[in-house]
Formats: sequence, structure tokens, C-alpha cells
Amino acid sequence: MIKKELNIGVDVGGTFIKFGIINENGKLMFRTKIKTLTEGGSDPMLISIIETIDLFLMDSGLTISDIGSIGMGFPGTTDIKNGIVLYAPNIFWKDVEVVKKVREHFSIPVYIGQDSRAAAWAEYLVGAGKGYSCISGITLGTGIGCGLILNGSLYHGGLLAAGEFGHQIVEVNGFPCNCGRNGCLEAYAGGLAILKAAMKISGIERLINKPANEISVSDVFSLAGNGNTEALGIIDSVVKYLGIGLVNLINLTSLELISLTGGISNAPDELLFNPLKRFVQERAYPVVANRVKIVKSILGDDAPLIGASLLHLSQNEK
Ligand SMILES: [Zn+2]
Repeated sequence: MIKKELNIGVDVGGTFIKFGIINENGKLMFRTKIKTLTEGGSDPMLISIIETIDLFLMDSGLTISDIGSIGMGFPGTTDIKNGIVLYAPNIFWKDVEVVKKVREHFSIPVYIGQDSRAAAWAEYLVGAGKGYSCISGITLGTGIGCGLILNGSLYHGGLLAAGEFGHQIVEVNGFPCNCGRNGCLEAYAGGLAILKAAMKISGIERLINKPANEISVSDVFSLAGNGNTEALGIIDSVVKYLGIGLVNLINLTSLELISLTGGISNAPDELLFNPLKRFVQERAYPVVANRVKIVKSILGDDAPLIGASLLHLSQNEK
């Protein structure tokens, strides 16, 4: 019987809400998604999530009694003890009682967490970090997300906002960041920061054959790969700031492994991954510099969804 070995994962993003029915080994058995419609606020969104789960179960030939739990990942800060999404600016949520409302409908355990933490949790349990006890999963996308697994526990921190890797300061009085502060890593190495810098490359519209504001991160890496010196300068700067961020994280936590995922991590190895590894080897605390493993995610874009479905295994964390 497969009963109860299945859990539902929900990955709530700014563009899509993804749903998966996933077994305990992290294998996605069924998946679906809907567009994220934030106009009416959190209530209509929650109702459409609940309705989609009902339909999804039916389409998959299952009922709620086949499901052990529902786990939901959100792009923001979550209070996992009280089941509340405290602040998720991308979807305009503040203090939303998610767990209570979803549990009222389905009458099975419901868990929530930050999406990047769920992704790291998935890498730890069934992905690139399997077999290690202290790892981090870092998502290099439009912004920079991070989850920390310390001694086998998903770490939230006493004030619930642990792992804000993208908001460590890399320049005093530096560029403004989306968080409202200045000089954060994300403002130098996040996808938006890369695009902002790339729009200033001389003759950019001619080089990419489209309007400058339609440039993508992969366009920037292609230009750098073709030897464009300004694009290479942008990538060098990204490697430097990400490298500083990684070294700070490694020196502070003595992690065994860091798994990278997200659009930027798909850049050609010779432009990003290899120089980043070299930076860490040359600059991290000598005792750990050559021992910490920096790898690419195995689960990729599915990590937050799979991790959300496995959040029931993260309870009792410190
Ligand atoms: Zn910031």
C-alpha cells in the first residue's frame, strides 16, 4: 500500500503556485500548477489553493485519506510554530493564518516554511546534501535565498529569520537592497543586480538584438562567454561578491556542503562555478577551505516543492 507514504507539497511563488504529490523518497508522482493571482489578497488565494488540491487529488485518482500531510513553502518569513506567514512581500501577504485554514478543510497535518529553506531541506534529505549533517542550499535567482541545515535540523533561528544569506552586508553604504537596507549581497549578485548592471553595457541592444530591458541573465553570461569585456567585468564582480558571501558563511558555520541552485547557477562552469570554487579555496579559513564541498543542486527547480512536502520530517528542530 502506498497509503500515507504520500505527501502534498505546495510551492507558492510570485508567478505560479506549484503542487506536487510526492513520496517519502522525494519522488514527484504527480504535479500541477496554477497562476498566482494576488489581486484579492490572501483569502481568495488560499481558497484557490484548497480547491486546486481537491481537484488535483481527484485527477490523480487519490483521496485526502491517501495523504499524510500537506507542506507549503512561501517566499517570505514564516512562523512555523503558529502556522502563520508573517511577511511575504512578493505575494503581498502579512500575518496570514495559513495552517489553521488549510487544516480546517482537509483535517490532516499542515506545515509551512520559507521556500528557500524547504529547498535546502530537500537537498539535505534526498538531493545533493544527502549523507551530510551540516549543509546549506542557496538559491541564486532574481534574489538570493538560503536554507541552513545544522546538525541534521532545519535551522530557523530564535527570531525565525535565520539564513538571510543574501542580506549580509558586502559594502558599507553600498547599493540599496529590496529589504530596505544598503550594501547587501543580493544588491550586488542577485539576478536583478546583474540585469541592472548589464543594461549599461555599451551597445547592449545591438549585442542582444532586443530592447535593453528585455535582457536575461543568460544573455549576460553568453556575452561574457563571447569575450565582451564589460559583461566579463559584471560576472567577475558577481563571483567576487558571492565568493565573499560564501566564505563568510563557511567560516561562521563550518558547513560540510553548499548546494547551489536557481537560474544563475546554470551559468557555464568556467564563468561562475569554477571561479567561485577557486575563490573559496583561496580565501576561506584554511582548516576548511579545501574540505567544504560546493556543488550544484540535484533537484533544481523542484527543490522547494519537494522540500515543502517533506516539511513534516523537520519538526522538533531547534
Ligand atoms: Zn538586503
